[in-house]
Amino acid sequence: MKKTILLASLALAAALPATAAVQVVTSIQDFASITESVGGKRVEAFSLSRGYQDPHFVDAKPSFILKLSRADLLIVAGLELEIGYLPPLLEQSRNEKIRPGAPGYLDASIGCDILERPSGTVTRAMGDVHPFGNPHYWLDPVNGRTIARAIAAKLSALDPAGAAEYRANLAAFESKLAEAEKRWDAMLGPYAGTEVVTYHNSWPNFLKRFHLTAAGYIEPKPGIPPSPAHTVELVNMVREKKIAVILMEPYFDEKTPKSISEQTGARLLRFIPSVGGSPEAKDYIGLFDYDVKLLADALAARKGGKA
Ligand SMILES: [Zn+2]
Repeated sequence: MKKTILLASLALAAALPATAAVQVVTSIQDFASITESVGGKRVEAFSLSRGYQDPHFVDAKPSFILKLSRADLLIVAGLELEIGYLPPLLEQSRNEKIRPGAPGYLDASIGCDILERPSGTVTRAMGDVHPFGNPHYWLDPVNGRTIARAIAAKLSALDPAGAAEYRANLAAFESKLAEAEKRWDAMLGPYAGTEVVTYHNSWPNFLKRFHLTAAGYIEPKPGIPPSPAHTVELVNMVREKKIAVILMEPYFDEKTPKSISEQTGARLLRFIPSVGGSPEAKDYIGLFDYDVKLLADALAARKGGKA
């Protein structure tokens, strides 16, 4: 009997997470996933948004303030991706450690390849939600590597006792990512130069990395819902260019893309912009595995005339 109780309590202890050395809050699940890969058991990562939610417009919950108040490290995408919800939460958390500029604050865009940086004066006249460049840059595995290195450096600075572990975990992550990139290149390589249409301008880094381009967007401008006139232009363009696929993030209304798809024969794909956007996309590498396969399969079907 005693033995049973002992075993039961051991099992319980194993099931409960040990208190991690570093409490991390991230704005998107992708950063939480990379943090878990690099931090291992020494970190506990919590993402404010879920991968199936629009990362520009996150519903702030009171529980977020508690998470932020206890965090040692806050990782954001920056480029104003979080401008709509994070500043008041951060204010209310009263956590000086994770304020912008403090040691516990990491803007993951630093050092990454950021596309569409504006050259002139930034205005919001057009309702643009990408005023300082495209904030969806984690969708390039090369940037993912840069982000992982920045996270490892930050964790080592905050928790020097774990530095060797972070270094080893980072090396393992990088080699797994390099292997995966070979796989993705092989799958999408045959379709280099293909033009696609996307709903939101979430994919410039992804498309550039795999030598694809966006011929147009369902949103007339990032953050602006589709308009009838713009949709007519898109339908004509998709027909003219024989565009094979329309990529749509999971959080948009499918009415317009579905109608364009029906009018033109272009295939509508639910493309996942973040870890957790689909149950299969469990981690950062799994996210690309999911999207690359979905796109390669659709393009192969089109090529074979089965679209
Ligand atoms: Zn955006």
